[in-house]
Order: sequence, then C-alpha cells, then structure tokens
Amino acid sequence: MLTVDAYAAPSATEPLVKTTIERRDLGPNDVLIEIAYSGICHSDIHTVRGDWGSQKYPLTVGHEIVGTVTEVGSDVSLHQVGDRVGVGCMVNSCRECENCLAGQQQYCLKGNTGTYASVDRDGTITQGGYSTHVVVVEDFVLRVPESIPFEKAAPLLCAGITTYSPLSHWNAGPGKRVAVVGLGGLGHMAVKIAHAMGAEVTVLSQTLSKKDDGLKLGADHYYATKDEATFRDLKNSFDLIINTVSAVIDLDAYLSLLALDGTMVNVGAPGQPLPLHVFTLFGNRRSFAGSGIGSIGETQEMLDFCAEHGIAPETELISADYINEAYERVLNSDVRYRFVIDASTIA
Ligand code: NAP
Ligand code: ZN
Ligand code: ZN
Repeated sequence: MLTVDAYAAPSATEPLVKTTIERRDLGPNDVLIEIAYSGICHSDIHTVRGDWGSQKYPLTVGHEIVGTVTEVGSDVSLHQVGDRVGVGCMVNSCRECENCLAGQQQYCLKGNTGTYASVDRDGTITQGGYSTHVVVVEDFVLRVPESIPFEKAAPLLCAGITTYSPLSHWNAGPGKRVAVVGLGGLGHMAVKIAHAMGAEVTVLSQTLSKKDDGLKLGADHYYATKDEATFRDLKNSFDLIINTVSAVIDLDAYLSLLALDGTMVNVGAPGQPLPLHVFTLFGNRRSFAGSGIGSIGETQEMLDFCAEHGIAPETELISADYINEAYERVLNSDVRYRFVIDASTIA
C-alpha cells in the first residue's frame, strides 16, 4: 500500500479536509501516476453531498485527472515512465459483457468501476483525483497530447468527453442547429466542441450575463431562459439540444424547441426525476435521450480532436485549500468555466 496526501469529505455535510488515503500496490498491469492537476466536476459535489444516494465516508472525489507516469507494472505496454496521461470517470469495467466487448465500457452491464465512490475489484471503495497519486490499470489511462496545455487538460477527461460523445453520436456538424443548455463546465466544452464540429451553436443560459464569453467560445447565438420570449422565438428550431443543467428544469419547454426528428440529450444529472409530457414528444416526432460520459476509445479520440482543433477548457487554477469555496461558486453558477486544483498544493 502507498499512503498519499488527499482532500476528502468526512461526511455529506462537512467541508473537505486534508488527509491521507491508501493506493493499492502496483499490479502487473497498473501504472502509478503522479497527479499534476485535478478538475472539479459538479458530479463531485452531487456525490459528496449525497444527492445521488448515500456514500461511504471519508470520500475523496475527482475524476478529471492529468499527471505523469512515475512507475509501471511488469506487464504494462501502453504507457512509459514520464508519459503525460489522463484518467477520467472510470477506472475499470467487467471486460466480458456485450457492451464492454463492443468497446462501450461506460455502459458495462455490470456497472463500470467509477474513479471514486465505486466498489473496486478488491472490495475497497475507489478514491478519486483530489490527491497526489493514483494507481490505475493501463488500458483505462489516456494519452494527453503534448499540444494541450497540461494545466488546462484535466477537464477534458469528464466535461470534454461527456459533451463530445453525444455531439459525435448525434452527428453535430455542418447544417445542424445545436443548442447547449447551461454554460458551466460541461456547457462551455459543448459549445467549443460543437463549434469545431461545424454546427450552428446556440447557448441557452439563465441570463445574458455570460453572453460575451459564450460568443467568444464559439456560439453563434445566445439567449436567456429567464426571458419567456426565448421559448416563443425558438420554438421548433433545433436539431439537437444538449442539456447540461445540474438542476431540474421544465423539460417540456425545452423539448418544444426541437424541430422535426430533433433530439434532446440529457447529460445534466440532478438527483430528482425530470418529468415530461409525452405529447411534447409526439409533436415533431421528438426524442428525449440520455448519455453517460464516453468510452475509453472515444475519450482518446476526443483528446486528439481537441489537440487537432486547438481546443482547451477555460480554467481557474486553484490551490487545494480553496476547494470548499470553489464548490460554493459552482453551486451558484459562478464558475468560469472549470476549477482545476493544482495537485502540488495537496501535499
Ligand atoms: P456546472 O459547471 O455547475 O454547470 C451547470 C450549469 O447549469 C450552470 O453553470 C448553469 O448555467 C446551469 N444551471 C445551474 N443551476 C440551474 C438551474 N437551477 N436552472 C437552470 N440552469 C441552471 O456543472 P457541470 O460540471 O457542467 O455538470 C453539469 C451536470 O452534468 C451535473 O449535474 C453533473 O453531475 C452532470 N454530469 C453528467 C455526466 C454524464 O455522464 N451524463 C458527466 C459529468 C457531469 P447558466 O449559468 O449558463 O444558466
Ligand atoms: Zn464529471
Ligand atoms: Zn462489462
């Protein structure tokens, strides 16, 4: 066992505190990563606060990890000491089910092993990236292209892939009218990626306060959802809507913005159910879908796509003692557009 420095939540209601956690000894297929940066995803907050169900505490979260390989197991062939690598939302899967065999590990029928708060194969609870080191099996470790600035790369491992995957699956591209609901961590990546794919991009944010930013990120249009005229003016006008909102929204209002055969994909994950009226789907033969992160193969494809298109997240670098304040700012939609922890401040 390796004892490493970390930040952990002692319970659902207390602030995160500095502590130590255990990492397993390196197995033949494992790599040891010295973490350089770790992003703060809203899922970290949902999880530690118990929004998605009770957890085992203390719990270290964080699933947007970049770092350098410092040691490799005897059978490792995919990575070498010194490589710049990333780890996202999952660290293993069953490798045998229909979905794993199809390369869709995120949809493992036995449940993928989450980077944190999951039961690992040795029965322990996985602990995430707000720490100095992590041990991960080699084929769940991604290559981070040299051209992506290291201190900005971390959010790609969740916010990047979670938006790239549905944009790619539902063919965002030239001639497609794509709306992004919520301009936070996921939303700002959705705008950048959809724009790079060639789609016509509209941001639907609560207010116009981030309009200048949204247009700079690559949006063609920007509307406030607190303005009722938005829902009248944009009726039947999108082919694809990506909803990144972390709270319950009025689905029918957004679904009515879909054109014929349009799809609204939910990636936002509030703890409460999202009600909808089926007649809203009947009109225009609309679809309502969900999408969870992305596969390992697709995550590498996304990293390479971002390198090729010069895409990197907008980040605010923080030291670990600012995590609790950062959480409050995320909850207040006051994030521009992803907090990234400098892991050297965790030690
Ligand atoms: P975030 O940075 O907090 O962004 C969420 C945005 O939603 C906010 O910036 C805000 O945008 C909008 N919003 C927040 N509260 C709202 C409300 N009450 N009504 C309307 N809009 C509201 O969070 P994130 O890290 O991007 O994550 C977003 C959600 O995706 C979370 O629920 C997270 O758990 C989930 N998630 C899902 C997956 C997946 O695999 N499906 C992966 C990662 C994250 P404006 O200020 O522009 O309105
Ligand atoms: Zn996430
Ligand atoms: Zn599986």
